[in-house]
Amino acid sequence: MPVNTEAYQKIISQLNNEATLVAVSKIKPVEDILALYQLGQKDFGENYVQELVDKQAKLPSDIRWHFIGHLQSNKVKYIAPFVHLIHGVDSLKLLKEINKQAIKYNRIIHCLLQVHIAQETTKFGFSFDELQELNIPKEFINISVDGLMGMASFSDDRALIRNEFKQLKNLFDKLKINHPQFHTLSIGMSDDYTIALEEGSNMIRIGSLLFGKRIY
Ligand SMILES: *Cc1c(COP(=O)(O)O)cnc(C)c1O
Repeated sequence: MPVNTEAYQKIISQLNNEATLVAVSKIKPVEDILALYQLGQKDFGENYVQELVDKQAKLPSDIRWHFIGHLQSNKVKYIAPFVHLIHGVDSLKLLKEINKQAIKYNRIIHCLLQVHIAQETTKFGFSFDELQELNIPKEFINISVDGLMGMASFSDDRALIRNEFKQLKNLFDKLKINHPQFHTLSIGMSDDYTIALEEGSNMIRIGSLLFGKRIY
């Protein structure tokens, strides 16, 4: 399926120049990414390390690559030279490894901490309590923790989703007191991004609405 240009233009207009769209291109071919790139899209998100590395080598170098999947510590080294933002950091161990690789490549790697919402099916992420107690070690000087990433529960219940996004925004605002560098709240996907934007998201991650359904 070709890229949905109409959906793209609509989403861009909804961002109001206040939020960033990450186009999620996992399992989609490089041709589809290029088609969207030619419309002006620069931020793309991928979930799998090998796939991201392969695509990065084939595509324009000014694309900003977001890693949005579950990242294993032993694979950080493959994306460390070029990754723009790692969304799903779920442990201090991972943060430590990202810092180590960032030192190796002499760059600052930007990260978001993944928040685990109670009803959510994934087991990854920090709980609300863990985040409120979190101290990011001062010696991690080659990383910049820019904010939070979350996913709503897999549900058709719009009120439930809105409530979860509200909770995430509240947590984000609270954490900003001790982490004044926090500026990014990455919430919202194809089915719930309008709710996320209404509740204060400033980074949405959209796949199927732009590229069509993924057939695995
Ligand atoms: C796949 C994925 C998305 C995009 O999902 P769509 O429903 O296709 O928009 C967003 N965020 C994460 C973490 C994903 O894994």
